[in-house]
Amino acid sequence: MIWKRLTKIRSARRVAVVDDLQFSAGGRQRLTNKHHNLSGDDIRLVEGATRQWFRIVARHPRATLSMPSLVVADLWSELALDAREYAAFCDAAFGRRLTPASRQTTAAGTLATLRYGRQDENCGPTALPLLFRVDHSLAIQDGLSYLADCGGRGECFQVRGMICLQHIGGPGKRLRVGGIRGDLPFHDSRYGYAGGADVSGFGDGGGT
Ligand SMILES: [Zn+2]
Repeated sequence: MIWKRLTKIRSARRVAVVDDLQFSAGGRQRLTNKHHNLSGDDIRLVEGATRQWFRIVARHPRATLSMPSLVVADLWSELALDAREYAAFCDAAFGRRLTPASRQTTAAGTLATLRYGRQDENCGPTALPLLFRVDHSLAIQDGLSYLADCGGRGECFQVRGMICLQHIGGPGKRLRVGGIRGDLPFHDSRYGYAGGADVSGFGDGGGT
């Protein structure tokens, strides 16, 4: 179908615009003013994570997404302060104006962002893409730290200061005492044993 091909071409063009995005010296400086401890390499990591966020938005214009990183949200806000450049970038990358503050965080939005982030990074179903790692890696104050999977089944083994992505949408089915295999939705990778703790008696379980 022609329109499908056109959409694909347009999406590739928009992603290329994001990959070419250069962050202004002013924006970098303002980010460093906010986060004093960041080195030049750290800033480049934040820029990489910000590009990942923009690629996800460019590829999935209709998806409901949630911004998972505080430092990326900050860089995005700084970028938007250079109003004219930012407007031109938005037009080219998204075909619409995107306001940094206009997005709310929801479990569904976070999970969709996680899925697309993994696709973007090609990093497998149990890894954390850069966008979800960056706050923790750089020890950002009040940043968000994620755990791909706490290992709990039917309950979340909460780890202080960390958000468990396996259970962000709910705890899933509780593991029955004695462990009856049929009780668990084995074929749904969201609940599968892809990574995380080894539940004895279930072997490798397999996620996907
Ligand atoms: Zn959990």
